[in-house]
Amino acid sequence: MSGLLIITGASAGIGSATARMAAFSGWSRIVVHYGQDKDGAEQTASVVESMGAQAYVFQADVSKPKAVGRMFDKLAELKPGRIGLVNNAGMVMSNASIMDLTPERVEKLFQVNVMGAIEVARRTVGLMRSWGKGGAIVNVSSAAARLGSANMYIDYAASKGAIDTFTLGLADELAPEGIRVNAIRPGLIETGIHAKGGDPDRLERIGRTPPLGRPGTADEIAESILWLLSERASYVTRSILDVTGGR
Ligand code: NAD
Repeated sequence: MSGLLIITGASAGIGSATARMAAFSGWSRIVVHYGQDKDGAEQTASVVESMGAQAYVFQADVSKPKAVGRMFDKLAELKPGRIGLVNNAGMVMSNASIMDLTPERVEKLFQVNVMGAIEVARRTVGLMRSWGKGGAIVNVSSAAARLGSANMYIDYAASKGAIDTFTLGLADELAPEGIRVNAIRPGLIETGIHAKGGDPDRLERIGRTPPLGRPGTADEIAESILWLLSERASYVTRSILDVTGGR
């Protein structure tokens, strides 16, 4: 597929799976963005390149607008053409309930999951407009936005609720330009995010609770993201797709 696919948080998990599958499905130029895990990003990039696509590795902490701005300045030099964005970088924190949600914790989480995602989208739209070739955006939300995640991480759930609402409004704003904006809500997916958030046994404990009786894989999420980005979803915008095994 011609154009440039930008995937934030592509050093691991869903982002990495999406980059690898995108190269396999014909995207020829893929931005493998990472926050801290340079090795992970380079591994993703080498798989992308082994499939004949061009990978560009970029680092930026998405919670730092200046760092995001520097990255997008460099992306403009790539003469992107049509642009796809997978707005995926995100984090969870330790299991908690309301009295544990200190302002410091919630601020950090929202800086990454909400403000980071909005700034990445804003910069992407700027790039799309300056190249005039349009494109498509997929924001990565979570089933938590619907479930609320009581006694687990209601702050995370609220941050993803914000992503859902942001998706609806952004889709309306960009539809007249032919730019489609959708979101995906993964359920319980086998990635390192649970361990990084301090609960390595989460999937062992509740991974079989979805109606389909198992957790999902990063590849199963990547499939849906790439479909939403593709022309096969040309009449799909402002949609939020649950990929949760029925949860
Ligand atoms: P992961 O931890 O494997 O990957 C997260 C990616 O985001 C990593 O590449 C990480 O480097 C990047 N990232 C995190 N903070 C960053 C920052 N400040 N700046 C730049 N990059 C940063 O997790 P994953 O499960 O692949 O998660 C990807 C997305 O999917 C997240 O938005 C997450 O909330 C969402 N999600 C995951 C699940 C799940 O069960 N795994 C469920 C629902 C939603």
